[in-house]
Amino acid sequence: MTSQGASVTAPCGACGGVLTRNVGQRIDQDEVRWEAETTCTGCRAGGSTPPTAGTTPEEIRQLLLTEHGPARLTLTDGTANLISVTRVLSRAHGLPLGEARSKAAELRTTGLVGTLVEMEWLATALRERAVTVTVGPATAG
Ligand SMILES: [Zn+2]
Repeated sequence: MTSQGASVTAPCGACGGVLTRNVGQRIDQDEVRWEAETTCTGCRAGGSTPPTAGTTPEEIRQLLLTEHGPARLTLTDGTANLISVTRVLSRAHGLPLGEARSKAAELRTTGLVGTLVEMEWLATALRERAVTVTVGPATAG
């Protein structure tokens, strides 16, 4: 199972203790799920969000990207059927076909960049449609 997590600490606004925030993304039942939990060493501050499907909040994505670096999804086969790719991207992101088409074009030229879990999930969906792709680290710049 593909999953990633990150942890950050901050001073607790309520008691001055250490607030620890754990966030994560995983592929579960064919969906990308995110979760978050905040706990304080000194008081009852914090809370948690159980694994949730749907678009991961940007704040959580940024923590994962900072911790692990972005991943890049690229087409192995330059002649891949763009219609298949467009359909998968449209379904995956709930995009209208026009936007999905430009993402498909982006995938074919520069590749798509996101968290490892997001890119692995897309890779699986694309492979199911016989589109060969690879996921690797995306170097900055
Ligand atoms: Zn506290």
